[in-house]
Amino acid sequence: MTSASDAQAADALRAGRLVILPTETVYGLAADASNAAAVASIFEAKGRPRFNPLIAHVADAMQAEALAVFDDRARRLAEAFWPGPLTLVAPVRDTRAVCDLARAGLESIAVRVPGHARARAVISAFGGAVVAPSANRSGRPSPTTFADAVEETGSSAAAAIDGGPCAVGVESTVVSVLNGRVALLRPGAVTRQEIEALIGPLDTAGEGHRSPGRLTLHYAPDAPVRIEARERQHGEILLGFGPGVGDPRWSLSPSGDVREAAAKLFRLLREADRERPAGIAVSHIPNDGLGEAINDRLRRAAGFVG
Ligand code: AMP
Ligand code: MG
Repeated sequence: MTSASDAQAADALRAGRLVILPTETVYGLAADASNAAAVASIFEAKGRPRFNPLIAHVADAMQAEALAVFDDRARRLAEAFWPGPLTLVAPVRDTRAVCDLARAGLESIAVRVPGHARARAVISAFGGAVVAPSANRSGRPSPTTFADAVEETGSSAAAAIDGGPCAVGVESTVVSVLNGRVALLRPGAVTRQEIEALIGPLDTAGEGHRSPGRLTLHYAPDAPVRIEARERQHGEILLGFGPGVGDPRWSLSPSGDVREAAAKLFRLLREADRERPAGIAVSHIPNDGLGEAINDRLRRAAGFVG
């Protein structure tokens, strides 16, 4: 598939078609958020359960506040981290701009301003909100390169944009700001520590805020994934972390840098899977900063309940 222009992508969205859209987190499969038929075709292309709502991607914070009701803390988070890998879940204001199906019928809405300039350029050229879940078939690792995105869902898309490899490599941090409570629903590149430094302690009781997408088996390659591995067992590929751990070809980060490991995580899981190993073992990764997001994805890939 050759890379489309921003105008071609915007035209495809206007026609109710799907577009492969680069973001800084992972590649998305995008549709006009207000068009229920287009949104339905995303769920179909991904095999995504309809109870799992989508994130509305917008060009700036003003467009976000037209869709959602932000309190003071939501606004501070938006100011600090947008454009960037943070999704805010807040009460819905405009129920037509993002259709019921996209929100899975909820009274809340998830919204984000992506950091990738091409994503914002397409959204601006289109003029409305765009829903864009990861461009993989449901349950599989997210694509972080153009080639992987096209391989997963390219046959369902009318246009695709090559924005290079995704700089972050794991999905956005999801934070809910509802009824005066702020909770972390999904860890990501905007870390718990960064959020708490800005607005104070997150509400742990609020972790019960519904996040329908947190399915048990998720982000999973075909090969079984074994985490916290000390060494490679027979037939396995070991994804190492840190100096001297395993084959450098398969290292998530030879220097032990969690940002590098996040950027390489899904690509290496996919590449390892192509070798049809007996299993994919992954070294211990520290849980600070972006490590929390990596460990969250790995636990789910390994089949543990979050
Ligand atoms: P993705 O599959 O990366 O598009 O993920 C979207 C994530 O946002 C999923 O985990 C959803 O469950 C979550 N999400 C979207 N909308 C809402 C909402 N209104 N309330 C809670 N979680 C949401
Ligand atoms: Mg996804």
